Amino acid sequence: MKYAMVLVNIKGLGVKTFSYLIPDEMKDIIKIGQAVLVPFGRQGLINAFIVGFSEYIPGDFKVKKINKILDETPLFSIKYLKLLEWVANYYCTDFVTVLNAALPMKLIEKNAKYELVVSYIKEDNKLTKRQKEILECLKKYKKCSLIEFENIAKTTRATMKKLEESGYVEIREEYIYRNPLSIFKDIETEPLYELKGEQIEAYEGIKAKLKSQNPILLHGVTASGKTEVYFKLIKDVIDTGKNVLFLAPEIALASQLTKRLARKFGIKDVAIWHSSISEGEKYDVWQRLYKNEIKILAGARSAVFAPLQNIGLIIIDEEHEGAYKQTTPAPRYDARVVAKRLAQFHQAPLILGSATPDVSTYYYATNNNNLFEMKKRYNDSPLAKPQVINMQEYGKASYKGIISKPLQTEITETLERGQQVILLMNRRGYSTYTQCKACGTVIECPDCSIPMIWHSSIKQLKCHYCNKEMSFPDYCPSCGNASLATSGVGTQKIEVLIKELYPEAKVERIDSDILTRKNAHIELLNRFQKGEIDILVGTQMIAKGLDNPNVTLVGVLSADSGFSVPDYRASERGFQLLTQVAGRAGRGEYKGKVLFQTYNPDYYAFQTAKSQNYEKFFETEIKSRQEFDYPPFSQIVRLIISSENNFRAEKSAMEIAMRLTTMTEKFGFSEYLETLGPTPCIIEKLNGYYRFQILIKNKLSQKGHDFISKFLGKIIMPKDIRLAVDVDPLDIL
Ligand code: ADP
Ligand code: ZN
Repeated sequence: MKYAMVLVNIKGLGVKTFSYLIPDEMKDIIKIGQAVLVPFGRQGLINAFIVGFSEYIPGDFKVKKINKILDETPLFSIKYLKLLEWVANYYCTDFVTVLNAALPMKLIEKNAKYELVVSYIKEDNKLTKRQKEILECLKKYKKCSLIEFENIAKTTRATMKKLEESGYVEIREEYIYRNPLSIFKDIETEPLYELKGEQIEAYEGIKAKLKSQNPILLHGVTASGKTEVYFKLIKDVIDTGKNVLFLAPEIALASQLTKRLARKFGIKDVAIWHSSISEGEKYDVWQRLYKNEIKILAGARSAVFAPLQNIGLIIIDEEHEGAYKQTTPAPRYDARVVAKRLAQFHQAPLILGSATPDVSTYYYATNNNNLFEMKKRYNDSPLAKPQVINMQEYGKASYKGIISKPLQTEITETLERGQQVILLMNRRGYSTYTQCKACGTVIECPDCSIPMIWHSSIKQLKCHYCNKEMSFPDYCPSCGNASLATSGVGTQKIEVLIKELYPEAKVERIDSDILTRKNAHIELLNRFQKGEIDILVGTQMIAKGLDNPNVTLVGVLSADSGFSVPDYRASERGFQLLTQVAGRAGRGEYKGKVLFQTYNPDYYAFQTAKSQNYEKFFETEIKSRQEFDYPPFSQIVRLIISSENNFRAEKSAMEIAMRLTTMTEKFGFSEYLETLGPTPCIIEKLNGYYRFQILIKNKLSQKGHDFISKFLGKIIMPKDIRLAVDVDPLDIL
């Protein structure tokens, strides 16, 4: 091969590929994935990566030579690039966009770290008692950063130097991997639990299916012991010398999981990967993964792109969570879809787990005979049956119209027993809208077509989409009367009301407004776990993962708020949220209670959530999906066309839709593809951009998909109009 395609990261331009000539002396050793130095314009020599080879280059221009191979060991493989190419095609985006999301930027710049390292050599009886203690301690570590060891053993540099001079230890400078797990280094390992009852059945059933090309679903109620089943399967896989990728939907859950894994499998074999570990740590974990030094990688969405070698099993826990899908920026990938492809590449099984599976996942698992169920909690503690408080009846007698009498009574009794309470309010902020009592005008964000929300903590109105803030207007912008008032309820108001009702209780709030403080969320969850908080108020962020046996009451303040959104997945999301949050109650030895406050007690998704009956919910839901040709009976590709100029956006959307329809007919795809729209998006204006959408429904045909991908690849948009392509969108708002 004559030319190499290399990837460079240029300030201001991002990641791009260029062609370079391969000098003769490099021809035998050059490989895909190697880091190289290349000359680049006025910047001189810069770092680059080999991503491909070719005999020819398009056009007739002079290309420069690669200057040097920096490291002969590649950092990714051809297989890896093939996966990224597949992702680019599936999500109708270009390869470089995917590379950009997958590769940590620092990988392209050298970023190693050298440190003093101490290791154990020998002991004898010439040692003092204290020296002996130090060596005993060092033995446990084999090798350790000197600074860290001095801390652990509570000793000094002078003492260590003395030990070195007498030949008991060795100290030298070494390349050190930054290990984001060092916080867990004192963790004691413990054996795996023996599985019991339903766990054994699920485990054996799954074992018999490990050759399956299709995802395996473990549908187990909250606290049925799914994680322990995964652990057993992991053990089997790593015993055969293969590696495991384990995904959790968000960083906090991935950290909890990593800790559990480190306890079971030892810290040395486990690594963590998510968007918040530092670039330096990413660089190091990447190297260790590529060198096959890690057996279990736990992480959030982006870990699906980490170069774990020799994969023998992929597990995705809480698979129904929207967080597995990247909504912005492109590539708008779903880690579950990428993981399925990755599993096929490695001929490894993919296990999806949830108490409330995605409707499509459940549908496919049933059809493929790949469904395993655990219906009881591990410790037999019963699932709390939610009690419904019809607010049409109880509303008037409740505290400020918001906290009903029965809920107040339950909170009081729970606190008296010294137990803990979770209150879910799925809207943040203080109120939900600000309205003029005289003319009915609602104050909207000037850039987005949605109401501004009052935040009492910052004393500002705030837009939840673009974060714009403004002070509370004295007069209505429409009629000029001084009669503006806030209405509706958000988490901040609940927090205030609860503090008024229970002045003695320790009350905290968790929602994305507190996330401005790094780790605030994890800290609060930890304090709640330790019993330092009595009542936790929050959005759906508190519905996930909490395993606190002392929580015996869960109250949902406005249980219908999730269902009223005009989106085909609204019922599914509402059902999942209510079932998940109900599952936080009574996980230990004490019985749990769950109260749903609602104005629509008869709605089906609500009724099934109340009885925690997934099958019943699924039956009704899948019928309506089939009737309207929604997933899993079709695949949706959503196009959003937006511009600061309303008319330009609409015109452009119309042109695209027209061309799409014409081409579909011309090439004979009408049977598979249906184009809907353009229509204004439900959120018509966002960040100052007017939005129109086109939905393409594909009746699950690969040819249809390839056609869409090609069609979109050819569209060139004018500068003032944006086109966003979202394959399998989470919502269509
Ligand atoms: P899930 O993942 O289904 O929510 P977990 O696996 O976290 O449930 O199990 C819930 C609790 O029960 C955990 O504290 C777990 O350690 C414990 N547990 C589950 N299975 C066993 C077992 N076989 N032996 C002992 N404890 C178990
Ligand atoms: Zn806004």
